[in-house]
Amino acid sequence: MKTFSFEQRNQYWNALDQSEFDLLIIGGGINGAGVARDASSRGMKVAVVEANDFASGTSSRSSKLIHGGIRYLENMEFKLVFEALSERTKLFQIAPNLVHPLRFMIPLYEDSRVGMFKMGLGMWLYDALSLFQAPQLHERLSSDESYQRMPLLQKNQLKGSYVYSDAYMDDDRLVHETLRSAHEMGAIALNYVKAQRANFDQSGRIQSVVVKDAFSGKERHVRAKHVVGSVGPWTDLLGEDFFPQWKKVLRPTKGIHITVSKDRLPLSSAIVMAAEKSERIVFGIPRHEMVIIGTTDTDFDQNPGEVVATAEDVKYLLGVVGQYFPGAKLKAEDIMATYAGVRPLVNDGSSIEGKVSREHTIWTIAERHMTFVAGGKYTTYRLMAQEVVDQVLKSFSVEEKGRFQRPQTERPLLAEVGPELFQQAITGASHLAANFLRNPAEVMTLCERYGMEATAILSRNPSYYTYWQLEAAQAIEFTMCLNLVDFYSRRVPLFLARQDHGTPVLEEVTQVFAEILGWTPEKIEHEKAQLKAYMAHELSWQSKL
Ligand code: FAD
Repeated sequence: MKTFSFEQRNQYWNALDQSEFDLLIIGGGINGAGVARDASSRGMKVAVVEANDFASGTSSRSSKLIHGGIRYLENMEFKLVFEALSERTKLFQIAPNLVHPLRFMIPLYEDSRVGMFKMGLGMWLYDALSLFQAPQLHERLSSDESYQRMPLLQKNQLKGSYVYSDAYMDDDRLVHETLRSAHEMGAIALNYVKAQRANFDQSGRIQSVVVKDAFSGKERHVRAKHVVGSVGPWTDLLGEDFFPQWKKVLRPTKGIHITVSKDRLPLSSAIVMAAEKSERIVFGIPRHEMVIIGTTDTDFDQNPGEVVATAEDVKYLLGVVGQYFPGAKLKAEDIMATYAGVRPLVNDGSSIEGKVSREHTIWTIAERHMTFVAGGKYTTYRLMAQEVVDQVLKSFSVEEKGRFQRPQTERPLLAEVGPELFQQAITGASHLAANFLRNPAEVMTLCERYGMEATAILSRNPSYYTYWQLEAAQAIEFTMCLNLVDFYSRRVPLFLARQDHGTPVLEEVTQVFAEILGWTPEKIEHEKAQLKAYMAHELSWQSKL
């Protein structure tokens, strides 16, 4: 396994303007990562630049679900659902350490917008569109059965429920592992490098993209046969930076989530809640380490980098939970953390935010040799990436295309986490713990998160490293993690899943960063202050309740 760290970043920065790439990808969210992996698997020479941390945009702020999108059945978006369900099956295979099956309950009440019969039809259709490959087929439960399974559920006027299968995932880590996979196949990728503007030749084709390193402030001119803009909600901003005549294409909406401990909202499965007087649904999603509740859907026209949960957003979600689980008495003080993201939805002229289509859009400005991808769902990223690269290749000559092969993206993201090896890692976890004289529960967590790579993580790090120090070393050396904010928010669930946000382990974690990255005492203090400021910003709604 190749390291993917600050050292590679330095090398790649120097290599950026030394030769021409087949493809320059702007934006290191799931779409950029997916395109990088697809293109490198075909043998293309690929570079990715990300203005911030990889996955720091929408791709770490989703509901973290891999789902067919049962509610799209109502809009008759059967193709969208079918594609998403078949991609769900593939993701179980290619990333079993990141994508986990989960049961979902939809309780139906006397006044629910959809009745038991219609929902039942939807359930059959959902199972059928998955070609009956769902981890478990749907069940119909009576009112009593529903209540027994979910004892805190509001029982008044409950008619019954349906329970069906979908999946939850680590969205940020899916981006990192997809990029690592692309990197294994030869792609180069740099975080904290922003695409500033483009230079054009006389025909109007992009001659080079000028990129800037956030740390040194230096610029480089990157040449590529084709450029992909996969900047999600930043699409219009990038378009305006690159092209004087750019016309806005997005209708971005904001969605926030809250996290609470499993003790405060013990859910036996995920729950699908209908927000009162609207067609919106809100999920309660129990995961390994926490329950996530969300999301909201409101128009958002500010810079996507500034999105944050407000007191109104939080009250709205608590209100929905209060209707379904009045006995839980969930309050703002129970919330461990919040996060907010911006959906890069392409404007289709809809009058209501929640109705804007989730289908992705791919378009090429042929004379510029630039392709954009925006919108879409996390779930279908592999397929979208394939479509993007197919589209890109239309601008290559037959001879150039002859160098490339078919995409190879159906194999596991990383060799160590194919389904069989993943299972072997889980069954061998206690042996591994005994061999390395380590806490069995911690080694099991490492195996669940990294599959067979857990063995390498334990072997290559000092035996005195604590669990969080192992995680820190892994993040720095293999996911290009450069600071504490990125570690706490996107490499491990410390900020989101702990009431104390992981501050008790700050010293030990910082020590590893300081050792590997050579931080001075001033830098250490600066990084700690940045982390504190980040947490205060994310939780700024608390002072406005
Ligand atoms: P992003 O992740 O935003 O990536 C774009 C990147 O481009 C950013 O990292 C940004 O820093 C970078 N960038 C911007 N400008 C520049 C520049 N000039 N130079 C270099 N880099 C630049 N989908 C699902 O399938 N399941 C879900 O459960 C789900 N839930 C969601 C919940 C919410 C609230 C939201 C908002 C979305 C959800 N989605 C879900 C959709 C999914 O998360 C997004 O479609 C997906 O993450 C978009 O990825 P992206 O790569 O296009 O954008």
